[in-house]
Amino acid sequence: MGKISEAIAKSFQQDGGELTSQMEAERILVKDGKVEGVLTQDGRIFQSPIVISNINPNRLAGMLPMEFQKSILKKTRRFEYSLSCFILHIATDLDVERMGLPYFTYLRFLSDLEEEDRLFRKGEIPNHPTMIVSIPTRLDRSLAPPGQHLMKVLVNVPYLHREMWGKGDPEKYRRIKEEFSQKIIRQLEARLFPDLKKHLLFYEAATPLTLERYTGNEMGAMYGLASTPQQMGNLRPSHRTPLPGLFQVGHYTRPSHGLIGASLSGLFAARAILRKLHRA
Ligand SMILES: Cc1cc2nc3c(=O)[nH]c(=O)nc-3n(C[C@H](O)[C@H](O)[C@H](O)COP(=O)(O)OP(=O)(O)OC[C@H]3O[C@@H](n4cnc5c(N)ncnc54)[C@H](O)[C@@H]3O)c2cc1C
Repeated sequence: MGKISEAIAKSFQQDGGELTSQMEAERILVKDGKVEGVLTQDGRIFQSPIVISNINPNRLAGMLPMEFQKSILKKTRRFEYSLSCFILHIATDLDVERMGLPYFTYLRFLSDLEEEDRLFRKGEIPNHPTMIVSIPTRLDRSLAPPGQHLMKVLVNVPYLHREMWGKGDPEKYRRIKEEFSQKIIRQLEARLFPDLKKHLLFYEAATPLTLERYTGNEMGAMYGLASTPQQMGNLRPSHRTPLPGLFQVGHYTRPSHGLIGASLSGLFAARAILRKLHRA
């Protein structure tokens, strides 16, 4: 995935684009009822008649003058966010090649998807949660020293689990995170990697709070808006916003979530902007 982003960035730069990262946008600047640019947290101003945002729309609304916030917030109140996830990153000296384990394994225990959904909506997680296990070193051996492997275990979980994973109480947060990590390790040992514990070199977990903190996706929503029938395709928010010159892309907008959905949203928004420019 890193290579795809790099290729897109390179092509953008070859066409004269400039990229800046590690810089937080703080406010959308508005003049005479139209977008004028962006103010960053460190006080830099980027002037432009067109601004495109791919962040959570509630957070975007917070960057706008009051009169433009209302119409965005009226819509976001009705949104249903997607599930979040818990990710366990593992380093091991298990010989996964000899064990014949592939790059990707989908471990599903519960066959009733609706039951799983009911549990998630109550903030609960099934006793045997579905686990998506990938072993990147099966594709690229240079990612770890010889004889060692990396694994990533992704488990879909609700944000509201156990009073939001102990938010605001660091000790409780660490305890819940550790308990859930151990549960996953036990289940991996029982189902896929016997002796994993003996061969565990390192592990670190990310919770829905981690995702929320580092990506700005409220409730750690890994796919932005939930892809329910009411929130698919054109039923998702448009790329245009009530503020002329401000556009939205990404997994809170049309047509859907994920890498493909977010990429298509960029394409659709680009077309809308080009149409607008040609009309001007
Ligand atoms: C663990 C995980 C695994 C996934 N696996 C898959 C998969 O296998 N296949 C798939 O299709 N999808 C997958 N997804 C979903 C996919 O990653 C998202 O749907 C997609 O990345 C959405 O892209 P986006 O541009 O809308 O938002 P994001 O990727 O969330 O990007 C938003 C960016 O905005 C930045 N940001 C936030 N606030 C500000 C601010 N104020 N100023 C500047 N920058 C800001 C954030 O740091 C972030 O980089 C996964 C998601 C997660 C979390």
